Amino acid sequence: MNIINVCKDCGELAEVNEEKSNENWIVYDTECKHCGGKVEMKFK
Ligand SMILES: [Zn+2]
Repeated sequence: MNIINVCKDCGELAEVNEEKSNENWIVYDTECKHCGGKVEMKFK
């Protein structure tokens, strides 16, 4: 099972937040860079 982080409003994939991420943990932006909408986690 994969987890994807997508914008609720436009469906754009969230980008990785390089500041908060490290080699063991990947953090995604919680705000869409494209439209400013809220990003949510989805199980695929
Ligand atoms: Zn968006």
